[in-house]
Amino acid sequence: MRAFVYERPADVAQAIAAVAADPQAAFLAGGTTQLDLMKDGVWTPDRLVDITRLPLRGILVEGQLMRVGALTTMEQLAAEPVVAQRLLMVREALLAGASVQLRNMATIGGNLLQRTRCRYFRDPSVSACNRRSPDSGCAAVDDTARMHAILGVDERCVALHASDVAVPLVAVDAQALVAGPGGQRHVPLTELWVRADEGPSIEHVLTHGELVTAVDVPLLPAGWRSGYLKVRDRASYEFALCSAAVAVLMDGDLIADVRIALGGVGSVPWRARQAEEMLRGTHVDPVRFEQAGRATVAGAYTLPGTAFKVDLAVATLTRQLLAMTTEAST
Ligand SMILES: Cc1cc2nc3c(=O)[nH]c(=O)nc-3n(C[C@H](O)[C@H](O)[C@H](O)COP(=O)(O)OP(=O)(O)OC[C@H]3O[C@@H](n4cnc5c(N)ncnc54)[C@H](O)[C@@H]3O)c2cc1C
Repeated sequence: MRAFVYERPADVAQAIAAVAADPQAAFLAGGTTQLDLMKDGVWTPDRLVDITRLPLRGILVEGQLMRVGALTTMEQLAAEPVVAQRLLMVREALLAGASVQLRNMATIGGNLLQRTRCRYFRDPSVSACNRRSPDSGCAAVDDTARMHAILGVDERCVALHASDVAVPLVAVDAQALVAGPGGQRHVPLTELWVRADEGPSIEHVLTHGELVTAVDVPLLPAGWRSGYLKVRDRASYEFALCSAAVAVLMDGDLIADVRIALGGVGSVPWRARQAEEMLRGTHVDPVRFEQAGRATVAGAYTLPGTAFKVDLAVATLTRQLLAMTTEAST
């Protein structure tokens, strides 16, 4: 085991200063990703800055906005009544993730910043991993495995973004509230992560020492309905092969407005803006839904093991659109 310094700062400013001052330092929240990476020798920081005692836990609803403290656990957020009422797809995504035990430890900040589950990234005996070691290659492209991304990837990296809850959060244009050595800023989640085909070794736009303190989530206005469909190899305790977060505002059988994001297929949680445009103002029509799905995956980069995800993504989105546009109640 490699030795490391463990610190528990008294406040947010100290936590940021501790990480910013040491290029080999990392924040520790619930530890459900971070400690695994350390045990496996994938990422072994010299200094762990434990943020779990900082006052960043809790949910505040003001008007049409919900502010979720970064240390709020997945279970806490799923249990929040306003989430069930106004953001059902967020609740469904949370409860479809990991296990109850993990969700009681895992925080929202940590969930958004979890590292990829790519088995080559997580195996330090594999040297070719551009994400872990820039310019070393990508062992996954010669692989037959299925758990890789098909959107926002190329031959340099096919790593998947594994978070479930990030998918509906992207669909509603949630923003991360970030504090760092240079002050505070808002980062839209649609801009937080970097696509693997735009920089295989850069996962997100945060600079070293920047801490997510909260996530601002717009509530869906009255009349919207939403849901999250996760397709996976087994019914629990498994990451998505594909998922779809869909929110719709219906006017009779007309889709007055729609928000869509896909998970399990992208190097980042995938907002499907083209599909939204194709569907806004149209009537419920499964053929049109499928066309919107095809448009979303049109630029897919596939490998023998992942080619099935093209049709799976189309089917998942079509099914979820049908469910949301024809359901009687939210
Ligand atoms: C067996 C297993 C199954 C899982 N299944 C699923 C699943 O189905 N769906 C799903 O979505 N997830 C799944 N996960 C992932 C799990 O949700 C994440 O591990 C968890 O959400 C990470 O949160 P944490 O608080 O434990 O973060 P940590 O492990 O403490 O941190 C994760 C990373 O984020 C950084 N970090 C943490 N908080 C902050 C912050 N506030 N600001 C800046 N950086 C921060 C840390 O430095 C670290 O790099 C699974 C995990 C396991 C182990």
